[in-house]
Amino acid sequence: MRVGVIGGGQLARMMIPAAIELGVDLRVLAEADGMSAAIAADRVGDYTDLETVLAFAREVDVITFDHEHVPQDVLRGLVDAGVAVHPGPDPLRFAQDKLLMRERLSELGLPVPDWARVESAAELDAFIDAHGGTAVVKTPRGGYDGKGVRVVRTAAEVHEWFATAAEDGRGGALLVEELVDFRRELAQLVARRPSGETVAWPLVETVQVGGVCSEVIAPAPHAAGRMSDVAAEIAFAVAEGLGVTGVMAVELFETTDERILVNELAMRPHNSGHWSMDGATTGQFEQHLRAVLDLPLGGTGMHADWSVMVNILGGPEEGSLADRYERALSEHPTAKLHNYGKAPRPGRKVGHVTAVGDDLDTVVYEARAAAAAFQD
Ligand code: ADP
Repeated sequence: MRVGVIGGGQLARMMIPAAIELGVDLRVLAEADGMSAAIAADRVGDYTDLETVLAFAREVDVITFDHEHVPQDVLRGLVDAGVAVHPGPDPLRFAQDKLLMRERLSELGLPVPDWARVESAAELDAFIDAHGGTAVVKTPRGGYDGKGVRVVRTAAEVHEWFATAAEDGRGGALLVEELVDFRRELAQLVARRPSGETVAWPLVETVQVGGVCSEVIAPAPHAAGRMSDVAAEIAFAVAEGLGVTGVMAVELFETTDERILVNELAMRPHNSGHWSMDGATTGQFEQHLRAVLDLPLGGTGMHADWSVMVNILGGPEEGSLADRYERALSEHPTAKLHNYGKAPRPGRKVGHVTAVGDDLDTVVYEARAAAAAFQD
């Protein structure tokens, strides 16, 4: 069983131990030397070049991804050449383009924020006026960690975004949404095999700081029963409706008037699922490999009542994470560290820690304190 991962970031890196345990031969096509997954990156090459990607794909049974940026023409070229690609180009379109995603989810009758496609400042101002004077504008493609997302009161604030959108040859359209009054953000992680079997992990709460995920609590507190059922139903409907294979995270808003709305889709293992590596019977990286190989999926139950993941954002101002090991590991023996092998840089995700246990306050404290020990 050989799996090829396109992209050499930390998600590819975290698939490596899961592959070893399953006896899967994992190959990585990295963008550059020395990336997070360099330990398994036997190839470095341009993922936008079909010949490079085809040569890599010929050595494996299935192609999957560390990110969603492989262009559609390359994905289609792989499929045309008979390569198994999971997730395939059809579902990936909806993870690559937020306008297409909103359109499709609305067609499927799934709950999303009020939205519109706008091609001019006048159209955007009309939407803002109709939604109480504020709205959220998003570039349809290429945004991440809050980049390409802006709260605006007038179209003039995103004047240059229309110009940039026009340049990428897609009609200059932007996505505009109502500013959702949310109580908190949630994420529903699921996995689906090509033959259809689909499983869900418990619904989680995600905490964002400055547009970047900082903390995840599994399961989401006060979300038992109806709310978690609704979230799982939504994620199953997305996975089936879009034909997603592998792991998918559905990012959700819990509104102040008790609704669940879909914000974003990630068709790969996701930050909101890192807790599962240490907190659930089957971690998301192992599950992703099982799913893309069309193997039976593993159980998603939790080892303990709570599991909390805290990102190490930036890392120490000087030196590396390893320079902190002596003190951090001795002071926090119950926290599980995952070091991505990346150079510290302000705001960069360089690792995470997870704590697991039956008392939420203790678990939150342990995870936060351990992560703090690796930051200044
Ligand atoms: P990306 O995943 O590209 O960073 P998102 O669409 O997930 O972008 O938006 C980033 C963050 O911005 C969200 O996590 C949320 O906190 C906030 N946000 C996005 N859309 C809305 C909205 N319609 N209303 C209120 N806040 C929003």
